[in-house]
Amino acid sequence: MNFTIQNVLIAAVDGYNTVDVQVVNGIIAAIEPSLDVIGTAINGENKLLLPGFINAHTHSSEMWLRGAIPAFPLELWLAELYDFAPLDLEKVYLSALGTAVETFLSGGTSVVDHLGLIPGKELETIATAVSAYKEIGIRAFVAPLIQDESLSAGIPSGEIERTHLPYFRLTTATLELIEEAVRQFHRPEEGVSILVAPTGIQLCSDALFTGCIELSDRYNLCRHSHLLETKAQEKLAREKYGCSAVEHLQRIGYLSDRTSLAHCVWLTDADIDILAKTKSTVVHNPLSNLRLGSGIAPILKYRQAGVNVTFGCDGAASNDSQDLLEAIKIGSLLHNVTDVDYQHWITPRQAVEMASSGGAKGLNMAELGSLTVGKKADLVLYDLTSLSLLPRTDPIGLLILGRPTNVVNSVWVNGKQLVANGKVTTIDVDELRQQLFNHSQWDTHRKSQTVGEIEAHYRMVMGL
Ligand SMILES: [Zn+2]
Repeated sequence: MNFTIQNVLIAAVDGYNTVDVQVVNGIIAAIEPSLDVIGTAINGENKLLLPGFINAHTHSSEMWLRGAIPAFPLELWLAELYDFAPLDLEKVYLSALGTAVETFLSGGTSVVDHLGLIPGKELETIATAVSAYKEIGIRAFVAPLIQDESLSAGIPSGEIERTHLPYFRLTTATLELIEEAVRQFHRPEEGVSILVAPTGIQLCSDALFTGCIELSDRYNLCRHSHLLETKAQEKLAREKYGCSAVEHLQRIGYLSDRTSLAHCVWLTDADIDILAKTKSTVVHNPLSNLRLGSGIAPILKYRQAGVNVTFGCDGAASNDSQDLLEAIKIGSLLHNVTDVDYQHWITPRQAVEMASSGGAKGLNMAELGSLTVGKKADLVLYDLTSLSLLPRTDPIGLLILGRPTNVVNSVWVNGKQLVANGKVTTIDVDELRQQLFNHSQWDTHRKSQTVGEIEAHYRMVMGL
């Protein structure tokens, strides 16, 4: 599918240029004024073209719980999440589609889905999400969420001797499952990649991490985990390893230039040096960190240390939306209150770069992430005549700092158009809305049993 976008605004080093952009066989073939039309002509007048953003961390099936979980910190929030996680494949399918639609309409072309697996139907869960993503056409990085310790092990013990129930599936079985998922679904050239994704040090043994490293090396897979999201996890790492989680992960060889780590809120300066040295990527999820009271990740320090940083929405039960532009806005502005030196503050153009090429770098996808001849055409066209982008000032400044609504005119992934005139072309979104409605109900009276079981210990160990 070849096309030429005519007279479109793109960012230049200083200001903007109006150019034509030719896309041939899914690749950006030329960017210059007044090019010949190859394929379909697209009117780019009064529109801004940017590389597609990457939602570098989410959990699609949390959509079924958005807006519903009370004001809890992560450890209690997770207990509630586990108690009410959707257990049917139809819901997995619908929430993957819903996540993709919201990603497109907020400037994204790729999603990293740290996908919760239905116990006993793990491969089916992965197959379902993969088929939803293929159907709608988003570039998908499916990271099956795995652990090999039971939930209560994720809370520090304090002075108390505690025992935990064994996890229901053996570590070796989990690793076999992931290897099978790689065999069946890892097709980067078709837009679907599988990542190894142990959830984090709080619920994973070294055997699981090491097994994931081996799979990652054998099949050239990226690695994805949560890292030090909460103060409780920092305490837990000290109990578990006698050193920081980052030191431990470096020691076992988990950190690398294809490792992306969600949150990274509670790191020391020495930890930050390790992330820089190992070329690991930090995925900043500001809304989730605010919602769960996790803290403010020291993003400006990461950037000054040369650590690659990109953005994620995190799952819709801790955000509680999947609006990438919103995550980018809050994620850029939040740090102005932690660093008085405004020269370190994140500018709108830097935010765009973090969300596009920063995301691509964290996924080892050098062929994505910028408007450059020879790169893949994962593109988003914004309508600059939309009310929220008027009057005419600085298009990127207003897109990032404003409250853009209904601004995405077109989306392409690998040169294939998936949104045209603001409407998704590959699925029927009205039908999706109806299905999301039919599969849910207004419910404000449920109570989590697991929260009841662990809350007293959590309060004690956290000194509350
Ligand atoms: Zn997460």
